[in-house]
Amino acid sequence: MRKIITALILSLSLLTATTGLASTLATVTNNEIMLEFPETATFRANFTDDVDITSLVLEYGNEQQTCGEVIAKAFPQFTPGKTVKAQWTWEMRQSGSLPPGTTLWWRWRVNDANGKETVSETKTATWLDDVHDWKSLNHGDFLRLHWYQGDQIFAIDLAKAAYNGLQFNETQSGLKTNAPIDIYIYASTDDLKEAILYEPSWTGGQAFPDQDIAILGISESDLDWGRDAIVHELTHVLVGHLTFSCLGDVPTWLNEGLAVYSEGELDTSSQRQLEDAIRDDTLLTIRSLSGSFSEVPDKAYLSYSQSYSITKFLIETYGQDMMTALLLALRDGIKIDDALTQTYGFNIEGLEEAWREAIGAQPRAISAQPTTQPTPTYIPTIVPVSGALLAQQSTPTVIPTSSFNSIPATELPPRRAPPLGLSLVLLGICCVMLLLLGVLILGVAVSRQNSTRGKNG
Ligand SMILES: [Zn+2]
Repeated sequence: MRKIITALILSLSLLTATTGLASTLATVTNNEIMLEFPETATFRANFTDDVDITSLVLEYGNEQQTCGEVIAKAFPQFTPGKTVKAQWTWEMRQSGSLPPGTTLWWRWRVNDANGKETVSETKTATWLDDVHDWKSLNHGDFLRLHWYQGDQIFAIDLAKAAYNGLQFNETQSGLKTNAPIDIYIYASTDDLKEAILYEPSWTGGQAFPDQDIAILGISESDLDWGRDAIVHELTHVLVGHLTFSCLGDVPTWLNEGLAVYSEGELDTSSQRQLEDAIRDDTLLTIRSLSGSFSEVPDKAYLSYSQSYSITKFLIETYGQDMMTALLLALRDGIKIDDALTQTYGFNIEGLEEAWREAIGAQPRAISAQPTTQPTPTYIPTIVPVSGALLAQQSTPTVIPTSSFNSIPATELPPRRAPPLGLSLVLLGICCVMLLLLGVLILGVAVSRQNSTRGKNG
């Protein structure tokens, strides 16, 4: 797991003077980062100066879209002197987990007894495990696929699916990218789980729009699902990137709707479930789909299918330009009702009426309190273990929250059925358990018989 990125070559030449004469500046050597993925990143360096070094500050962070120019600072403990060693560890469980592939950056700010300040050059490293032998593949200017298991054909297949997803989003939904997106393909969901500090109840993939990264667990036997999943997550990256602001909020039905829409047609069972809900008048209200989706599987499936249907209705009835206008209005902090009204001329209830009519559903039931937002139920969402633990940081550091408080990443709808491989493994485990149980029962029976015989004897 240990990955050392040394910076010996960079020592003297990379120092930048901010004040004073070059001869009086401190020199920084052995400036390196050690990654213990996914737990910690330790920064360390040696400093020498003509006079005592009195202050050392580590400035660090990760490259992502942020709301402001807040820089995280750490103050490693050290003994003042002409030669100083310092190190500081970034605990990811305390600051909130970062996705694999994130670019970390850091620099040292050194002050000496003469009041001279030296700032080392900003260095970067990729936050990634080296357990896997990662290979990379570029497809066009905006896609970089990284994978470690499976041959080139497997990777090209997925890269093509992702590329088609990008094209579809651009031509059909008006969602474009202006920055390369990195997609990390883990060989299984288990490998994926090990790479992120989460306690997920379920995950197959996740999007990190702030970092332009998507991660997925796709085995070679699960390509069909993988192709759709990659497009789904990619769309979340596009939506999140386009609508990024410190004000905006995209309702879940729209974010998930765009993601499912980009995958193509609904699968047969989802389509049937949606048709049943239309016929039985059991559709969920659009307002109830604005927050987290239900954790109940059937309701969750319907939430995704309905989101797809509503988004498809908006795009195919009013065009992609208006969809882009809606998303930009949301980015600018306009609430969904107003954003809908200024784009389409109706609010959420108006949308629901138009959509229900278009799909042949019953007219919307008028609620006694039409503006009340039902309490959203919980979606099988991945929550960073420690996103809220910033205040408990015990090391002598100041970590501004804005750099790491990413917009919650989004995930995939639950799979309808486990892949065949998983089923076989589970079946195997069941057989072994039964066998063990049998042996145990037999053992108990034999030992009882023996002890009975012993007593009798
Ligand atoms: Zn999603």
